[in-house]
Formats: sequence, C-alpha cells, structure tokens
Amino acid sequence: MKIKAAVLEDMGRAGPYAASRPLKILDVELDGPGPGEVLVRIAAAGLCHSDLSVINGDRPRPLPMVLGHEASGVVEEVGAGVDDLVRGDHVVCVFVPSCGHCAPCAQGRPALCEPGAEHNGKGDLLSGGFRLHRGEARVHHHCGVSCFAEYATMSRRSLVKVQKEVPLHIAALMGCAVLTGTGAVFNGGDVGPGGKAAIIGLGGVGLAAVMGAIAIGAETVVAIDMFEPKLALARELGATHAFNGSDPDLVAKVKEATKGGVDAALEFAGSVKALEMGYAITRRGGTTVTAGLPNPKAVLSLPAVSLVAEERTLKGSYLGSGVPSRDIPRFLGLYHRGRLPVDRLLTHRIRLDDINAGFDRLADGSAIRQVVEFN
Ligand SMILES: [Zn+2]
Ligand SMILES: [Zn+2]
Repeated sequence: MKIKAAVLEDMGRAGPYAASRPLKILDVELDGPGPGEVLVRIAAAGLCHSDLSVINGDRPRPLPMVLGHEASGVVEEVGAGVDDLVRGDHVVCVFVPSCGHCAPCAQGRPALCEPGAEHNGKGDLLSGGFRLHRGEARVHHHCGVSCFAEYATMSRRSLVKVQKEVPLHIAALMGCAVLTGTGAVFNGGDVGPGGKAAIIGLGGVGLAAVMGAIAIGAETVVAIDMFEPKLALARELGATHAFNGSDPDLVAKVKEATKGGVDAALEFAGSVKALEMGYAITRRGGTTVTAGLPNPKAVLSLPAVSLVAEERTLKGSYLGSGVPSRDIPRFLGLYHRGRLPVDRLLTHRIRLDDINAGFDRLADGSAIRQVVEFN
C-alpha cells in the first residue's frame, strides 16, 4: 500500500528545521505483515529527543529511514502466526522488539534483547525483513516502529495491547516517555517511599520520572533543568525543589536542601555534564542512574576511589529497565487513578506536515511532548 511518511534522507542539517526540512513528507510503499508481524494504522506518534538525535547525527542510523518510535495505533491486519491480536485492537509500540528467547530476554530483561538491538541497528524488523521501500530502493525502519507514517508494519513483539478506553494520544506517550522515565524510577529500585530523588533533564522522559518519583512516594523530589517553564511544571506536578542547571552553586544548593545529597539521581539530559552533576549531588552510598543518550563518542571520567570509599553505584537504564507488557498496563492504571498525570506532558497536537517545526520546538525547549495525530 502507498502511505505518507516522514523520511530522513541525510543527517546533520542545521536548524531551524522548519526551513531546512530534514524530514520530507513522501509517498512510501509499505508491504503487509509477514509471519509474526502486524499492520498498524498509526493514531498518534510522539516527537522524542532520540528522533532528534538521529536528525542531528548524534545517533547515526542507516538512511533513508522513516523516523518515529513512540506511538499508539489500531491493528489493521495480522500476519501468519499472530493469534493474540485481531483487527481493531488498540496497541502501543515499543521501541525495542524482544525475541523472548535470548539470554537477556530469558532473564526477564527484554529491553536488552540481543536480536532486538541488532535489528534496530540495521534498521530492519525483528524478522530481518524490510517492509518499507520507494520503488526498488529500501527505506529503513526506526527502532522497528517507524511511526511518523499513516501505517506501519512491525513485529508482534514491538506491540503491547491496551484497553480501548485509553485515549490514543495518551497511550502513545506510554511507549517511550512513560516507559523510560517512570520505568527507570519504578524498576530501578533506587527510589522508594520516603526517599530522596533528583531528576535531571525535564523533557517528556524526565518529567515522567518526576511523576513516577512522586507516585512511588519519595519524600524529596529535586527537579533540575535549564528551562524555567519546565521547572515550574515540575513544581506543579509535586517536585519539592527545582533548580536551574546553569546555576554555578547548584551542587552545594542541592546538598544543603537534601542534607548531604539525594539517595538517587536520575539523569535524562543525555549529556556528560548533566551526568557528572548527578553524581556530585548523590549522597555517599547513593546511586546515580543515567537514562539519557549522549553522543556515542562522549566519555565520562570520575574519581574512581569514590565508588569504593563512598560505596556509590553508577548504572544505566534503558527502556525503563522493565517489561513493557507488564509496565504499560500498570502505568495506564496509575494514569486512570490520577497518580501519573501523563496528559500534562502533552503540549502540542500537530499534523504530519508540521513535524519539522515540531522538532524546532523540541530542540529549543519550548515544547515537552508533541504528538502527530493521523485521521
Ligand atoms: Zn523516545
Ligand atoms: Zn531477546
């Protein structure tokens, strides 16, 4: 079938993107589902910093590629062997397909699925197939999802079924912002009731982590970002402290406010400076978690002895270190209870044609989560 999709043909174009238009809205051919695959009509697709990192070249990917990795949609057609989804089911896309059989999958860590990572790197589906092309030329899949498009064919293992009562523009945000941000808090085991947490980098993912820290019952939630409106939103959501990341006295101020530092600092900014700051504001014996995605060439250096003498832990979190088929329903349950006000993340609902301007807003910090909606 012919679909309209946002295609990236080259990386590293300078902004403003509304003028340089790195994403072209093109007619692309989409093949139907192979065995174990599903054709999804995309309802809403979120704009995330990980897409921006491909556009600006920080995360190189094979091109051309239909971008987009956070979405909800409606099942249109199922391939052979898919017997647990039917046409009309509502689904959330997950940006790492999990094979269910490799060592990390067997350990209950599907976010680290080895074939999933390999195929995402190659820009094809978990089956090894390409379902997108323009004439004879292949078009690559982004994270097995490629949802900046009217329809997408993807692996059944990239999808989680959700209740039809959930608004689809809210469901979309579950796939990356909430799964990654709230998941890092809920699944990492570092933030608990009565504890002290700091969240650095208040994009959609970081703010979802702020909500998660509040929902889990942290006593102190410190929010840090360079943009004052995001700090104001974090305070409205229930953060107990908010600091501007450009404040030269920030480390001392956080240590004073938290009486020696936080139990856990979670970094979502994707910069080494932000991670170093997170380490500095973590108390002795505490844990620093990084869930941002820095440029692959970025290197972190730390005083090694502090890990030992201060019994510190430094660790990463990918896709919220969780199990999407378990976490998406429980986070939606908390949303319905009013304990994860995910709707507060959504600042813009746009059309596919306006997607380049949307990435300008994401880059300059004037938007949090924006979704492209398809009719
Ligand atoms: Zn994302
Ligand atoms: Zn696997």
